[in-house]
Amino acid sequence: MKKRWYEAGLAFACTRCGNCCTGAPGAVLVTPNEIARLANAVELDRDAFRAIYTRKISGEAISLREKSDGSCVLYDPEQGCTVYQSRPRQCETFPFWRGIVASASAWESESRTCPGLNRGPTRSANEVDAISRRDGTFSSARSRLLSPQKD
Ligand code: SF4
Repeated sequence: MKKRWYEAGLAFACTRCGNCCTGAPGAVLVTPNEIARLANAVELDRDAFRAIYTRKISGEAISLREKSDGSCVLYDPEQGCTVYQSRPRQCETFPFWRGIVASASAWESESRTCPGLNRGPTRSANEVDAISRRDGTFSSARSRLLSPQKD
């Protein structure tokens, strides 16, 4: 088997700086199960949560909305993520996304905006692979949407 560039593992510890929840617009995909969990966290029913907090982005894919400044609709500058315990898989698996662990240069590029990279506990290469396989980003959205019970 070909050696991975992160064979020695990758270190990460979130500093809760909020950079990944703010700044340039993006998409945070949510599956039906994640919507149900998030709706429960903010004490709304699913339909109300979908109407207030989500938007369709492509086909069946649904993303959380953003505020006018680009920050996540569920991010609070004082509190940070307001649904941290119920956060979607895309947030939970960051920064071990396929696109970020694809190369050392992609990882180093991400470290310029996320101060949590290269600090704290080290995940083994096999742990990184396991997380990145279920990263929850758009590239894996189709299979997730087809198998929402696997959330
Ligand atoms: S950018 Fe990195 S360190 Fe900052 S909140 Fe996001 S994951 Fe944590």
